[in-house]
Amino acid sequence: MFEPIPQATPGFAYTERRLEVDEVTRRVLESGTYILGPQVEAFEEEFAAYVGVSHGVGVASGTDAVELALRALGIGAGNAVFTVSHTAVATVAAIGRCGALPVLVDVDPYTYTMDPEKLATAIRSFGNRGDIRPAAVVPVHLYGQMADMPAILDLSGAAGLKVVEDCAQAHGARLAGRRAGTWGDAAAFSFYPTKNLGAFGDGGLVATDDAVVASNVRRLRQYGWSDARVSMRPGANSRLDELQAAILRVGLRYLDADNERRRATARLYDQLEVFGVGTPRVLPDAEHVYHQYVIRVSRRDALRAVLAGEGIGTAVHYPLAVHQQPAYEQLLSSAGTLELTARIVTEIVSLPMFPALAPTAATRVYEAIKAWVAAGDGGD
Ligand SMILES: *Cc1c(COP(=O)(O)O)cnc(C)c1O
Repeated sequence: MFEPIPQATPGFAYTERRLEVDEVTRRVLESGTYILGPQVEAFEEEFAAYVGVSHGVGVASGTDAVELALRALGIGAGNAVFTVSHTAVATVAAIGRCGALPVLVDVDPYTYTMDPEKLATAIRSFGNRGDIRPAAVVPVHLYGQMADMPAILDLSGAAGLKVVEDCAQAHGARLAGRRAGTWGDAAAFSFYPTKNLGAFGDGGLVATDDAVVASNVRRLRQYGWSDARVSMRPGANSRLDELQAAILRVGLRYLDADNERRRATARLYDQLEVFGVGTPRVLPDAEHVYHQYVIRVSRRDALRAVLAGEGIGTAVHYPLAVHQQPAYEQLLSSAGTLELTARIVTEIVSLPMFPALAPTAATRVYEAIKAWVAAGDGGD
């Protein structure tokens, strides 16, 4: 019997780096400082430098990072924020939590990220609806590939909209040589354990070149406090802790190498294209970091069952688009048509993808899918 191959293994970051992680963990525990201390400050600086922006502000999660970035830009009740329905529900939840109305835009069928033409239509047709004024766009760099930022920035600039990039799946990704997180007014990162840079708990960060936005997020993450610990406006408790920051500093040193290991697996999976499997399309000039490797097949559930029988774990990101979930059904009324979004959720499968995936294991996944297609089970 073969060893099972999981779809993701966040634990590899401990097993591979046990000595370093144990050492920094011990030091934090001995330090007596556990929240917003020197580890958080050092990580904020190091991660901002890695991304290529001047400010990083650690927060408690990626969801909070989106919400607080929007609030720091002055967005809230009375505003509409354009984003996609094909994303983690967190993106849309965060927009709702800042008080704004999420407006859902369809995605490109090949890259699965926001379709700029659909965004243009959505902005035009939204017009001025009662007291709700369009104020921002939250493009999502889904699966590790950046959205078409040049086109999105042209449209948002012309319409006077702020841009908050959702970089929760795109640590280190680039487009035209520029990293995810350097394009918008602010960017939100998540360090959920399975992300390309993962903590051993929750964590997030807002990256920005704007000193005012950074200072607003610093206040908002801690009760709206000024330096004198006076609440100047209502804030949250959304802080990064010292343990996570120290562990993230270790992980950051390996991020590029980890992303390269993901790309090596992707190069193998890419060869499934010749057998008619819908492999991901990478934009010219883009550097994909394969947070997920997602294929499209018409008999998705049958393929998953066959792979499961061979001990190969798969996942679906995401089985329901956001507007198909009860909490967000009413958003369909503010959306344009979401045809492609609705179609791809029935066809997508996320293959095993994590830095520590052994080449022999990736080859087993590749061979199993190839055999399934060759047996005519693909149904296309
Ligand atoms: C993971 C994720 C988030 C939310 O991050 P959390 O840290 O889990 O709150 C937001 N957007 C996208 C696209 C994500 O994948």
